[in-house]
Amino acid sequence: MSEFSVNIGCEIHVELSSLHSKLFCRCPITYGAPPNTATCPVCLGFPGVLPVVNEKAIEAVLKVALALNCKINTLTKFDRKNYYYPDLPKGYQISQKYLPIGYDGWLEIEVNGKTKRVGIADVHLEEDTAKSIHGEEAGDPTATLIDFNRSGVPLCEIVTYPDMNSLEELEAFMVSLRQLLLYLGVSECRMERGQLRFEASVSLRPKGSNQLGTRVEIKNLNSFRAVLGAVEAEIKRQREILLSGGKVVQQTMLWNEALKITEPMRTKETAHDYRYFPEPDLVPVVVDEKWLNRLKAEMPELPKQRFERFMHEYELGEYEARLLTAAPVTAGYFEAATKICGDPKAIANWMLGDLQGLLNDAGKGWDECPVPPEHLGEMVKLMREGVISVRIAKELLKEMFTTQKSPRQIVEERGLVQITDEAELRRIIEEVVAANPKAVQEFLSGNEKVLGFFVGQVMRATKGKANPQLANKLVREALEQAKVTSS
Ligand SMILES: [Zn+2]
Repeated sequence: MSEFSVNIGCEIHVELSSLHSKLFCRCPITYGAPPNTATCPVCLGFPGVLPVVNEKAIEAVLKVALALNCKINTLTKFDRKNYYYPDLPKGYQISQKYLPIGYDGWLEIEVNGKTKRVGIADVHLEEDTAKSIHGEEAGDPTATLIDFNRSGVPLCEIVTYPDMNSLEELEAFMVSLRQLLLYLGVSECRMERGQLRFEASVSLRPKGSNQLGTRVEIKNLNSFRAVLGAVEAEIKRQREILLSGGKVVQQTMLWNEALKITEPMRTKETAHDYRYFPEPDLVPVVVDEKWLNRLKAEMPELPKQRFERFMHEYELGEYEARLLTAAPVTAGYFEAATKICGDPKAIANWMLGDLQGLLNDAGKGWDECPVPPEHLGEMVKLMREGVISVRIAKELLKEMFTTQKSPRQIVEERGLVQITDEAELRRIIEEVVAANPKAVQEFLSGNEKVLGFFVGQVMRATKGKANPQLANKLVREALEQAKVTSS
């Protein structure tokens, strides 16, 4: 790779799935609904209908633009992008070409401990097309069916400058952007549902040259893995062409996941002339200072701020703070649980340890966690109060996970309260000592290690309910006592 520098850019389509209705009509935004049930004459593209813009969609894109440090156009308007395709019944898509909502911003990424800004060229609003369902999926290998539920769904399109120079930077950018969008609450960003779609452009230039090489775009990327795989394959392809003295042709490629190669698109997509012109059915939108100030005031806490606050306010390490603020769902969970017990360290440990393990085993995400944060907080509180031991807590958490009962309820029902009564523990220890004369002999002959064996036996006899520190102390006392008596 050493003879060439790589430039990678991205175009990202974000479905504003958190909104209640489509961009130019009042149809709901659905996923998985029966085909063509969320439609009306506007989103079906009937002649003579008029679009009415959804103000909430403009606000969502304004928030994205602000979070990406963009300049905001105080006058923004819509344009028609003309092309014919069965999933676009009007024969044009309403988009923004000349006065996008935001432009000239940046997103900070971190790679190997270094921060870098990836430039954002443009943030704009447009409508989604309908969805074509081909062949077998449509129940007929020769057919293509069209579902208009997606037609007119608001999309925020984000275009970056080709500022990324490695796969690591590309990955960091994708992760940071998705995180930012989740924090803004504009989309659920589920890639498998097409709510977040990436297209990449790749060009190579000789090391030291300031002139960008010929750009190749790659489409059909529906996961982070696909984006990274496709860009890696495309870099390799272009490098081989350049090394053999050839020229890279500007074109659009598709990612073939099965063969792990990029292939030219059959249609002449790059040769399109969309004949953009101003959308005559929609008036330009004035974004005045008052509106912008209200939105700025409404901006939620963003990932970087929350990460820094977690380290400062809860005294978490960088590693824990980063993991816990990776998504708003984990950050919110952590704060809600900590509020109950006042022990951020313990909550962080349980979340990143046992509870994460249970979620992994069940194949669940944090948004589906069967243990509400209040219950985890209550469990830690029971530990702090000395009601239960760590060992019991581990068992308890598993039961909370499967039954969704509160920890207090389970502790009461199953009598899991920790034994902290010295007299009761002494009695149990006496029995254990009496039952293991050989181990006592070993201790007397100087083997301290058998102490652990005795504590284990006590835990077993009490089904884990003995307070471990107390059990340890009392076992030692009992054995020391035996030493005195034997000498
Ligand atoms: Zn509609």
